[in-house]
Amino acid sequence: MSSFKEYISGYANGLKSLLIGMRTSMKVFCQKKVTEQYPENRHTTLHIPERHRAMLVMLHDENGNNRCIACGLCQMACPNGTIHIVSEMRETEDGKKKKVLVKYEYNLGSCMFCELCVNACPHDAIRFSNDFENAVFQKEKLLLTLNK
Ligand code: SF4
Ligand code: SF4
Repeated sequence: MSSFKEYISGYANGLKSLLIGMRTSMKVFCQKKVTEQYPENRHTTLHIPERHRAMLVMLHDENGNNRCIACGLCQMACPNGTIHIVSEMRETEDGKKKKVLVKYEYNLGSCMFCELCVNACPHDAIRFSNDFENAVFQKEKLLLTLNK
């Protein structure tokens, strides 16, 4: 007789927890959905803060010129060798020697997004963009040249 009672009470407890679970499911089913479909509707639902540091970029004007003077301060400020600057001395029209940027290499794969490089730049030549979709299958593709 006691095993029959246990069976009934176990059955009742199971039914009770099932109803509680169903009530929770129905409640959530009727609530406003918060799930965002990514990447399908990223342009309508995704909100990346403007100051989010996703990758370093070099600013260029409409003629493709940048403000970098190849001083190397950003490279020196970088704690882990993420930036590599190649520069050369060129003669200007008035016969003076001037250091110019040849190649600005940035390794997105090793960047810590600390922004020390941006803060070190005296010419506001670089900044962080919030464009975060940079996943690649080969890490070599993360080695970027920032100057045009
Ligand atoms: S954000 Fe930091 S780690 Fe990345 S390039 Fe600049 S200084 Fe180097
Ligand atoms: S980006 Fe700025 S700090 Fe870096 S080399 Fe160019 S001018 Fe100098």
